[in-house]
Amino acid sequence: MSQVPETQSPLLDHIKRRIALSGPISIADFMNEALAHPEYGYYRKQDPFGRAGDFITAPEVSQMFGELIGLWAAVSWQQMGCPPKIDLVELGPGRGTLMSDALRAVRNVPGFGDSLTVRFVETSPVLRTHQQTAIMAYGIPATWHEAFDDIPTRANVPAIVIGNEFFDALPIRQFERGDHGWAERLVGVDAKSGELGFVRGRETPVTDALIPATLRGTAKKGDIYESCAPAIAIADQIARRLNETHGAALFIDYGHPSSAFGDTLQALKGHEYHPVLSDPGDADLTAHVDFAAIARAMNEAGGRTGAVLTQGTFLRMLGIEQRAELLKTSADEQQAVAIDQALARLIDADQMGTLFKVLIGYGRETTPPPCVSGVAG
Ligand code: SAH
Repeated sequence: MSQVPETQSPLLDHIKRRIALSGPISIADFMNEALAHPEYGYYRKQDPFGRAGDFITAPEVSQMFGELIGLWAAVSWQQMGCPPKIDLVELGPGRGTLMSDALRAVRNVPGFGDSLTVRFVETSPVLRTHQQTAIMAYGIPATWHEAFDDIPTRANVPAIVIGNEFFDALPIRQFERGDHGWAERLVGVDAKSGELGFVRGRETPVTDALIPATLRGTAKKGDIYESCAPAIAIADQIARRLNETHGAALFIDYGHPSSAFGDTLQALKGHEYHPVLSDPGDADLTAHVDFAAIARAMNEAGGRTGAVLTQGTFLRMLGIEQRAELLKTSADEQQAVAIDQALARLIDADQMGTLFKVLIGYGRETTPPPCVSGVAG
């Protein structure tokens, strides 16, 4: 049936066949195939983390990251009046390292451990197994869910929701400003080379309407606008849940504090940047997170958000420098150097400290959790 010649990659062949049958696909459809295809998707088939993997995330850089987030969650719980039961939700928990470090750090907070049920939102069966192993020692009940909205709402049980590098993995669509209006950037097959390539869809009034009015007026030809509908949908669901049951949310990701133009789609393979369309399923694909869009969605749902902070500021507010000093008191010389390097990696401006941002959300009747400084617009 298909004219597409077979290559070494069944997923690439599948995507090309799909395009041959029904025309160019959106970048969101491409990302969905590349990351979430049930058999060949990047997050479905392998463990991408750590030094040997394609990228390294903050919890894998140092135990301090998860520990401080655990303490942030414990103080949030105390500020809610120490409710006897609480759901600690993590979106996209990877290897479970953050949760494991967080649970270890809060063992001495009286009553918190006993109140907890851990809820992991994770689609990858491989990573679910890692997460189970990572937290086994703490003896805290845990459940796994395909999506945030699958987590049951329990009367009088607030939720604390955490997500590190979760939103950046969700599929985006891109729109490009043309001579007269906006056209979607799509993935097609180049007729000559037979390779995947970007093509422009049609400029239509419908695509124009997808661009926020505040940005539309300032656009120049060639500007690219990215939107991430699944992120907005999840932010909306979380804000509703936090209003209903009380609670707090903490999102950390690389991205920008206000909506802006730019093509931020990128692929990483073996810790190197990689052409975005060349190895679907074998390279990680991400886009920068538009924190203003997420905050807007939470506020429109009646929730509250703090000002967007940089990761460096947030971790300093939680006392990461003091935590590093304390760890060094029982470290040998080599370990002390490693602790300093990890600290610099997490908070320095030229490393993860500035590019990574933090957004805190909470229910309209919840006491603002720690590190809410000012209220975002
Ligand atoms: N938070 C971890 C992992 C980040 S990578 C860390 O900081 O190390 C992204 C994580 O999100 C992975 O666990 C991946 O399997 C998961 N994921 C990706 N898309 C998802 C989706 N649509 N729903 C739930 N989990 C998803």
